[in-house]
Amino acid sequence: MSDQFRLVIVGGGIAGLALATRLGNSLGRAGKLDITLVDKGFAHVWKPMLHCFAAGTARNENDRITFISHAAGHGFRFCYGEIAGLDRTNRRITLAPLVEQDDEDVILEERYLDYDALIFAIGSRANDFGTPGVEQHCIFLDNVVEANNFNERFRHALLQSYGRGTPLDIAIVGGGATGVQLAAELHKALEMGSLYNFTPQTPEMRVTLLEAGPRILPSFPEDVSEGARKQLEALKISVRTGAMVSGVDEKGFILKDGSRVDAQFRVWAAGVKAPDVTRVLDGLDCARGGQLVVKPNLQTTQDDRIFAVGDCSFITENPFPPTAQVARQEAHHLAKYLPDWILHQKPVPPFKFHNKGAIVALGSYNGWGAFADGKTFGGGALRGLSARLGHTALYRQHQIELYGVTRGLIACFTDWLDGFVRPPVRMD
Ligand SMILES: Cc1cc2nc3c(=O)[nH]c(=O)nc-3n(C[C@H](O)[C@H](O)[C@H](O)COP(=O)(O)OP(=O)(O)OC[C@H]3O[C@@H](n4cnc5c(N)ncnc54)[C@H](O)[C@@H]3O)c2cc1C
Repeated sequence: MSDQFRLVIVGGGIAGLALATRLGNSLGRAGKLDITLVDKGFAHVWKPMLHCFAAGTARNENDRITFISHAAGHGFRFCYGEIAGLDRTNRRITLAPLVEQDDEDVILEERYLDYDALIFAIGSRANDFGTPGVEQHCIFLDNVVEANNFNERFRHALLQSYGRGTPLDIAIVGGGATGVQLAAELHKALEMGSLYNFTPQTPEMRVTLLEAGPRILPSFPEDVSEGARKQLEALKISVRTGAMVSGVDEKGFILKDGSRVDAQFRVWAAGVKAPDVTRVLDGLDCARGGQLVVKPNLQTTQDDRIFAVGDCSFITENPFPPTAQVARQEAHHLAKYLPDWILHQKPVPPFKFHNKGAIVALGSYNGWGAFADGKTFGGGALRGLSARLGHTALYRQHQIELYGVTRGLIACFTDWLDGFVRPPVRMD
């Protein structure tokens, strides 16, 4: 048996894969650390693109990073599996059995993985806050499987509308970046699809965005919220603020004031909570949304050998928003300080967040950005070109960080070439 220190990272999203790649490139390749990345999927995707996969305006074959081959090239191992339990005394995690979805045949039995240090990076999901009917009657957009499922249903619904000449009604709950960007992206998909003259008449798509608060994009300054609202309304997307959903049925949403918003397509993109498994992790402290409570240096409050980063973590003294930027910076922090903690028992210092602002892009229609000091940019005659380019640049930066410069640039070039070969919107 190897006497190398065993680091297990659970979750290969924005934080987990960046961390595994950085540590693998340094300590893993040098044989100083035994790193295993565990994920319940086989490939990594940049989550802020999920709404594009759902609308079909991006094709995720080009945007996936296959864990197993990436791990082999970057000094770590990949283990497919979904964490289901934790035994802190024996330093062991349990991976749930892998079961065939249709006939429930067991493909892989329950397995165990031993660790010397454990990092949780399992992200988050939308939060239905216990609203009746959401689970049964809404589509979620929290992972690539859900995004692909969304796209398939969207294409079928469009086909039906084209064939029958009837409108397609879509209602989205959540006026944050996900809901707002999704509404615009669906409009873009319909507009692009109509260029192919499938039928002489493009069907009407009626999108309603429901937000419980007084304005959409509440984490952005008011001028960005107002600009985004105007842009959505220009696209004939109905934006309803102060619209609190109290229930959902097979026909649509029921609002708190008793009125209804009926729609064939009901999307829940509001709120954030950690995956349910955090509640059964051998007594680790959880925040209200199930996030693992960590000290300012990202170590869990109950166990110094366990850390949590990204959306699934929560620093009580100073909570950070669940964004890609925070997830990446937390991963970089641990990549910098874990080697000394592991090899020389030096404490990990507190994490400091450097807020570089935020960007929101409404398809190719418009975009805005806000700096940390509240100054904004975007909109205007160039329809937010700088913000839209900034949004794309963030994804490319992530790709280059993971692939390395040469392969990262090749991936960008391949995507660009792909645009000459395939339609801009998924049709198959
Ligand atoms: C549609 C959409 C648009 C967004 N747009 C933006 C944006 O424009 N800007 C921005 O900053 N943020 C945006 N976000 C939020 C951003 O994507 C998240 O904050 C970020 O992905 C968090 O990174 P993470 O590493 O914590 O988790 P994730 O990137 O979600 O990764 C979690 C990983 O854990 C794995 N996992 C989960 N549960 C288990 C388990 N039980 N066992 C094993 N593996 C597991 C998952 O498969 C996944 O690979 C958006 C989110 C969505 C859904």
